[in-house]
Amino acid sequence: MDPIWLLVLLPFAALSGWLAAWRGRPETSSPPTPGVISETYYRSINFLANDQHDEALDVLAKALEDYDESLEIQLALGTLFRRRGEIEKATQIHQSLISRPGLSPEQKSLVLFELANDYLKAGLLDRSENLLLELGAEDGFRESALRLLVQIYESERDWERAIAAAGRLDSLTVEMWGPVIAQYYCELGERDLSGGDYAAAKERADQALKLNRNCARAIILRGRLDALTGRHQQAVTTWMRLCDEHPEMLNEVARLVQASAESLQQPGVYVDFLNRALEMASDERLQLLLVDCLSKQGRTEEAESQLLSWVEQHASLSGLHRLLELRSDQKPGTPFERDYQMVRKVTGKLLADRAGYECRFCGFQGKSLHWQCPGCRHWGTTVPKAAAIKLP
Ligand SMILES: [Zn+2]
Repeated sequence: MDPIWLLVLLPFAALSGWLAAWRGRPETSSPPTPGVISETYYRSINFLANDQHDEALDVLAKALEDYDESLEIQLALGTLFRRRGEIEKATQIHQSLISRPGLSPEQKSLVLFELANDYLKAGLLDRSENLLLELGAEDGFRESALRLLVQIYESERDWERAIAAAGRLDSLTVEMWGPVIAQYYCELGERDLSGGDYAAAKERADQALKLNRNCARAIILRGRLDALTGRHQQAVTTWMRLCDEHPEMLNEVARLVQASAESLQQPGVYVDFLNRALEMASDERLQLLLVDCLSKQGRTEEAESQLLSWVEQHASLSGLHRLLELRSDQKPGTPFERDYQMVRKVTGKLLADRAGYECRFCGFQGKSLHWQCPGCRHWGTTVPKAAAIKLP
């Protein structure tokens, strides 16, 4: 189950506990019928799970007519309002509940947790953080509070606090938080790099790699720092580490390798990199870079023959587009020139439609590379969309 559902269903878990306790309590003059409440509970859970908020609200509103004093039903209603984006209503319910006399410490914590969620959704991060820090000291809410605190610190780009909170979650839960913490160190490293403090940035990148030795972002950053400090050969060696676990990211460093090869005055370094990268990743963008590189070196026949073979083997649209460009340039004024130009226009349009990056987790698509997906907030799940399609 997605962790977000655990948070959403927390009041319902409390409601379930309340039902169990309620069944065992002495009978009053007009006891509510447990079967009715159970049915209400399961029906609303079912509607919530299917994102049918209106239906869940109808069921709970009906229950309120008979049991309006029930803390758990009020909590569930507050959660539903929040899920529907009616934050003010949710906050009012929770604020009114917190001032209710006779709440047990556990019930009070539950209401405070809901209130912290309301504040978070409303963007009142300071208020939410204060409540969560208070709740984080309690055993029952520590994990849930820390998860929300991580969200808050990420929004505030407060990476030091995010590292501390995620580190505690790493020890408390069975989940592996190392790769996420490595991303936080990369954030700090990039900040140091922008500020010109290369030594601090290097330390951050090394800390990230200690937590996740295959962190693509840390590898790229570490190589950039090598290059910035004049260690170009080492930079290329560092970037080559992407071949092992992240061949799909090799294109992201191709231009950096090219610049380092130029600084070293060794164009062969760049060609070797592209050939090795192409062995690891069937990435048409790398093939096109190799074609450009060979053409620049005057090896036009070799470049064209490589391109032709790539297009034949991989049904590569980018390759075809580049090939049409070459043919069109080579045969100006021929009857085929207009045909080439028309087909190139079509391939160019198709290529523009599929440029960019995609999240492997939620499918979010964007023009630039996001280390944290803007759609699902997962780290390191966004990869380049372009990949050659192999013919069967
Ligand atoms: Zn995503």
